[in-house]
Amino acid sequence: MTIDLLSTDQMSSELETGVNAGNGPAQGAGHESGLTDSGPGSGPAEARLTVLAGPTAVGKGTVAADIRERFPEIWISVSATTRKPRPGEVHGVHYLFVSDEEFSRMITDDELLEWAKVHNAARYGTPRQPVLDKLAEGRPALLEIDLQGARQVRETMPEAQFVFLAPPSWDELVRRLVFRGTETAEERESRLESATVELAAEKEFDVTIVNASVREAADQLVKLIRSPPISGKS
Ligand code: 5GP
Repeated sequence: MTIDLLSTDQMSSELETGVNAGNGPAQGAGHESGLTDSGPGSGPAEARLTVLAGPTAVGKGTVAADIRERFPEIWISVSATTRKPRPGEVHGVHYLFVSDEEFSRMITDDELLEWAKVHNAARYGTPRQPVLDKLAEGRPALLEIDLQGARQVRETMPEAQFVFLAPPSWDELVRRLVFRGTETAEERESRLESATVELAAEKEFDVTIVNASVREAADQLVKLIRSPPISGKS
């Protein structure tokens, strides 16, 4: 299933084949009607785990931040990371900023649901217990993680819902990477190389959302997060 916020002819030809391949035809917003807006209070049985992944610079963090702000009832996992905080990032809100030693201890003590070294730099991981606690409380939970992490969660929690965030076009992905200005030219080059591989992973996911507008992508994701389990998944 693809939730496409642009009509197909608005997308660049690269991504018509690259992003939608294997997932059937792109579907318009009308497709949303198949999703039930259960919302908070719909009972523990309906709480589900949703995993959001996608290529570098596609805007996963921005979509997650928009959900954090507008839909506080949706719990978003706070990852542990060994990278240093950026200006404005708060320990315990955006990440748990931990030392290399502490991260290694968390792995040894089996405290992480998944973890990965991202872009050959820092390590990132999802503390397992808070996720299990929230789901047990009946609160929908969201993980915003990289592809390696999403694959690990698929192994251990296949009943989760896996959502791929795709860029509207390859050119737009390049533009976003350059615009955010957090990488050197060399890092950008290497991330774009990774991005071509990452885009091909779309077919491993249950649903694709095209991130043409952050707000609309966040709205689509929230509907999925609140939806009952997909048939065939428990
Ligand atoms: P940033 O350093 O820009 O915040 O994040 C870099 C990358 O790490 C992003 O692709 C983000 O999705 C990924 N990431 C953040 N938290 C986790 C996590 O807990 N596990 C994994 N596997 N990746 C993560």
